[in-house]
Amino acid sequence: MATMLDRAALRRRLEAAKTALVVGHIKPDGDCIGSVLALTEALRLRGVDADALIADDVAAKFYYLDGAAEIVATIPDKAYDTVLFMDLSTAERAGELPWPAVPIVNIDHHISNPGYADELYLDATAAAVGEILTELFLEWDWEITPTMAQALYTAIATDCGFFKYANTTEKTMRVAAALLARGADQAEVAQRTEELPPAALRVLPQIMATLTMEADGALSAITMDEAAMAAGGDYVDTYLELARNIEGVEVTLQFKYAEPEKTYVSFRSKTTVDVSALAAEFGGGGHIRAAGCTVWKSLADTISTVMPVAVAWTHHGRRH
Ligand code: 5GP
Ligand code: MN
Repeated sequence: MATMLDRAALRRRLEAAKTALVVGHIKPDGDCIGSVLALTEALRLRGVDADALIADDVAAKFYYLDGAAEIVATIPDKAYDTVLFMDLSTAERAGELPWPAVPIVNIDHHISNPGYADELYLDATAAAVGEILTELFLEWDWEITPTMAQALYTAIATDCGFFKYANTTEKTMRVAAALLARGADQAEVAQRTEELPPAALRVLPQIMATLTMEADGALSAITMDEAAMAAGGDYVDTYLELARNIEGVEVTLQFKYAEPEKTYVSFRSKTTVDVSALAAEFGGGGHIRAAGCTVWKSLADTISTVMPVAVAWTHHGRRH
């Protein structure tokens, strides 16, 4: 089990670093990318030789963030004394890389975090890792530059559906306001993360034709096959949001083609079902209201495996 770090211990850990690798998760989202970029810049400002790494493609829509295009996918040839795993609910989500043999420090907000790292700063009440970092930087009086503010605002806004989801708290809005005061451009963040190419919208009819309603209308599900993923793979959340907004829906599933025998599933809920626990039934995890898993089966086999369980959970309400 990981040693739990409190704020003071995390600060000492960061201040002791000389050469740090700041790592995000595969299938990186706005929270992951924004948090990695902001902490990397914060450490550099404090004289640390810090590098940002994500072992996967960073979607071009995030290139409005300074440094996004320079995030590396393989470990630079340096002797790192500190490795920071950001927004990483499990070690596997870091990707398969030869990690330096130094203690791994994990900064996270997933309730399902099993404590895999050597040291863990966990705040499951935070809407985003970006919220955790902003709160800490403010408390520690660490400078938040306009580029950091933009990255942190992106992290927070994208993980709480622009302050709409249930994870949005008074603190979320307070720290987001502090970022606006430090130069974040909220209109640019909304525009850059929500705009999409025509091809991603033209595939909408095919995706929505897969819409299935179960559990007396309390469960909605959509499926993105190989062609849909090719056209709209960087915009999966846009389609998921539509299926989630259907009236009467409590749980939404999104089945996404990855490989012939590999399927990603996203889970969302509104008020009752704990989808972190539901996703854990299939080896995944996440948050109470947003979770995911990878199933090593075809799209069709994944649907027939996951759907009955999700329908039962929606009916009987594995509540949280
Ligand atoms: P998404 O559906 O947006 O990919 O993921 C929703 C949430 O579930 C995210 O917070 C993400 O970190 C988490 N999540 C997604 N896939 C997995 C997985 O395979 N394992 C775990 N533990 N968490 C996941
Ligand atoms: Mn997150």
